[in-house]
Amino acid sequence: MAEEKTLPLCPRCGAPYRSLECKVVNGKMYVYAYHGKVRRKPILCYLGPAGSYTHVEHIFALDLRNLSDVDLLAVAYNAASLYAARAHRLPAEEWGEAAERLRQLARDIEMLASDLA
Ligand SMILES: [Zn+2]
Repeated sequence: MAEEKTLPLCPRCGAPYRSLECKVVNGKMYVYAYHGKVRRKPILCYLGPAGSYTHVEHIFALDLRNLSDVDLLAVAYNAASLYAARAHRLPAEEWGEAAERLRQLARDIEMLASDLA
């Protein structure tokens, strides 16, 4: 979608994210990149403790230029999750094709894994 071209890129997985979310755990605040929801489950990437991430949102895109820091499998998983979430908004008769594309991707990934084993 055109909207996502302007979204900042997640320094953890490299995919565009919609917003930064903060969670408090044991009294400490942590920052996550929010990528959207799949079946009401939010897709979040842990970025780090709050403080180091305040007012540095504009730096994220620069950090990403160092692609060795990107978790490529997290990019692939998040992309597949968002694809599945979008497929749910299609007419039900188109779900089968979307499911088959996801299954084909899973088979292709399995072949990649076989080459390593
Ligand atoms: Zn991410």
